[in-house]
Amino acid sequence: MIKEIVLNKIKSIVGADNFTTSDEHRIVYSYDATPVLNQLPDAVVFPENAEQISAIMKLANEEKFAVIPRGAGTGLSGGSIPVENSIVLVMTKWRKIIELDIDNQTILVEPGVITETIDLEANKFNLFYPPDPGSIKVCTIGGNVAENAGGLRGLKYGVTKNYVLGIEFVSPTGELIWTGGKNFKDVAGYNLRDILVGSEGTLGIFTKILLRLIPRPKLSKTILAAFSTNVDSGKAVAEITSSGITPAMLEFLDNTTIKCVEDYAKIGLDTSINSLLIIEVDGKTSEVEDDQNKIKNICEKNNALYVKIAKDENEANKLKAARRSAFSALARVSPTTILEDATVPRSKLPEMLEAIQKIVKEEDVMLGNFGHAGDGNLHPTCLTDEGNSTELHKAEKTFERIFNTAIKLGGTITGEHGVGLAKKNFLELQIGSAGLEFMKKIKSVWDPNNVLNPGKIFSLKPKCEGVLPSNKNQIKNFEEGI
Ligand SMILES: Cc1cc2nc3c(=O)[nH]c(=O)nc-3n(C[C@H](O)[C@H](O)[C@H](O)COP(=O)(O)OP(=O)(O)OC[C@H]3O[C@@H](n4cnc5c(N)ncnc54)[C@H](O)[C@@H]3O)c2cc1C
Repeated sequence: MIKEIVLNKIKSIVGADNFTTSDEHRIVYSYDATPVLNQLPDAVVFPENAEQISAIMKLANEEKFAVIPRGAGTGLSGGSIPVENSIVLVMTKWRKIIELDIDNQTILVEPGVITETIDLEANKFNLFYPPDPGSIKVCTIGGNVAENAGGLRGLKYGVTKNYVLGIEFVSPTGELIWTGGKNFKDVAGYNLRDILVGSEGTLGIFTKILLRLIPRPKLSKTILAAFSTNVDSGKAVAEITSSGITPAMLEFLDNTTIKCVEDYAKIGLDTSINSLLIIEVDGKTSEVEDDQNKIKNICEKNNALYVKIAKDENEANKLKAARRSAFSALARVSPTTILEDATVPRSKLPEMLEAIQKIVKEEDVMLGNFGHAGDGNLHPTCLTDEGNSTELHKAEKTFERIFNTAIKLGGTITGEHGVGLAKKNFLELQIGSAGLEFMKKIKSVWDPNNVLNPGKIFSLKPKCEGVLPSNKNQIKNFEEGI
């Protein structure tokens, strides 16, 4: 526990109104959207400016407590879950759009701005902020930058990192630093900005973020293609992406997900089909029509049962909203929903889909599968019950096998959700011990006392001894220093 005297010093930095040790707040901020893991913080703070954050980090280094930055808490790898001896530093009040520069097509925002707000603001000037995680209506841009979040439009438009031009951040030792800027070319020194993107709240607390905007596409069309097997839809995805067409969106839903989504959203999806692709093409009218026809042909060649084109924007929006609701729809089925994001090169998608089906059958688990198929990024989602240790163990074994398969196919354990707490035990498997040690060295230089979000991505022995997630297997792994 952090000593009373230290808590009082933290309170005097942010002011009594922005500091709480109430049980209600500590419980609310002990979770994010990751199942099974949680840990109570000692206090929750809502800083108002960068100077306060800087003072907190300096105090954390003196008094050796941990600081956990947090956006909206929608993370799916446990990145904003507290550790022992920690305070949660909540950034959701930082909601200002500071500047929209039409000439340079950039937008400067505070980190607590909701992601959707950025695109809505850009739209007023016919500009576009493409990254659109499924959580777009609730997650913050700070959380997106920390996780390098992807989204439904990642295939054509890339992910968060492709839009971050500059970041103002407070370092783990309390310095306020600006990196990057409006220059499209800038090679002055090491590129700190790109190390911060995807750093999962372990290398700095963002206080301002400068983003690139692009012109808004003129036209878009949404296509729905139904298949009798997951493998056929996987083959269609691999052929679409290798044919030179780049859809803005290429999303996959399996039968379990289709049924759950229909039950939840009631938009008239055909629950008898085994697999569905929701595809969006955008651009100039002639390109859109051409791509749409080519995609239809490829789907039919790969045994599509039928291919439909949304008749208007309303129908297209319903289909996209249905896809966005996949996680919430699956989460209604069982007490615990564990969603993962194994990703493979797109050509390996049919193999991956087949392997997942085999693993699910052999491990006898209930699993819905959906995801950003065009990016090779799947979200196999286990519907289980953390209160039943046999079920939970089966789910863990399933994911271990899925991760191993992804790595064997040249893929990754995480395409967009980050390593956090949930996948740290698998990181070495993917990047090797030399790669892992190098990452640890970077963290040690940036954060010599390991006070900023310790124990995330990897453990730095012995400094993060206080990290204790609630899952028993994880606790064991922590104790063993894995
Ligand atoms: C229904 C649902 C759908 C989702 N769909 C997608 C998807 O399509 N694509 C995708 O990539 N993710 C998706 N996610 C995961 C999640 O929304 C993203 O990871 C998102 O970027 C997290 O943002 P947040 O504001 O909730 O951050 P949090 O969960 O609060 O934090 C995430 C990480 O960011 C760090 N952090 C937060 N703010 C700051 C800051 N100001 N400075 C430094 N570090 C900070 C935290 O320490 C933590 O490590 C989904 C989640 C849900 C629940």
